[in-house]
Amino acid sequence: MNHYQFNIIGYVASPYKQKFAIPRQPGLIPEATGQLVLEPPFADDSIVRGIEAFSHLWVVFVFHETADKGWSPMVRPPRLGGNTRKGVFATRATFRPNPIGLSVVKLEGVSRKNGRLILEISGLDLLDGTPILDIKPYLPYSDALPAASGGFADAAPHTAMTVSMSEPAALFCQQQTRYPQLRILIEKVLKQDPRPPYKKQREGEQQYGMTLYNFNIKWIVDGEHNHVTEIIQLP
Ligand code: SAM
Repeated sequence: MNHYQFNIIGYVASPYKQKFAIPRQPGLIPEATGQLVLEPPFADDSIVRGIEAFSHLWVVFVFHETADKGWSPMVRPPRLGGNTRKGVFATRATFRPNPIGLSVVKLEGVSRKNGRLILEISGLDLLDGTPILDIKPYLPYSDALPAASGGFADAAPHTAMTVSMSEPAALFCQQQTRYPQLRILIEKVLKQDPRPPYKKQREGEQQYGMTLYNFNIKWIVDGEHNHVTEIIQLP
């Protein structure tokens, strides 16, 4: 087998601190904002000259969290309820022969901090700390194919899930001036029902937790309703 070695050009800074509850594709939650942080020798201004003319970027990255877990030729897409098997190349599963991911994100701006070059992005589906292999402009004339067939994932996933929040949790969100979109981000994450398919079949109330930014969010699922009970600030 041939091998190629690639350089990591930077890392993703994301509100999603764990795999659980990250949207399954980019663009589903535009309120999720993050950064592509490029480090020397890839942090030179010249390397991104002209990039601001593009509204969206392709990010090629490593599924680093699952990279050492191997792969198999068939996977069970959550989209199909976790019971139907499809070939790995017919899915966007993270467990692949080469653990490489591809996401289109919106470019919100370019800035610089402590010698690093920062591309502000939104709509990401990337875990915090994801290593970046490459960045390319999204070209609508070639990359947008409205007549293309989406197979078993022909439209954005839809759930009937609703979301409510306890008063203390709602107040907590209001007070986070650094994250004005926190409440809407939580609501949208929960509306897409992040539970694995086998848990969705369970009866009765279930308790869950996730970390967004440095907040631990706890909620209860009852039928098709999520109720956020508590938000705790992590150290
Ligand atoms: N848009 C990309 C693609 O098609 O290659 C990713 C699709 S994959 C189905 C999206 C999921 O990958 C997310 O819901 C999250 O659970 C997972 N994920 C995101 N970043 C990851 C990382 N660095 N390592 C492992 N899994 C990751």
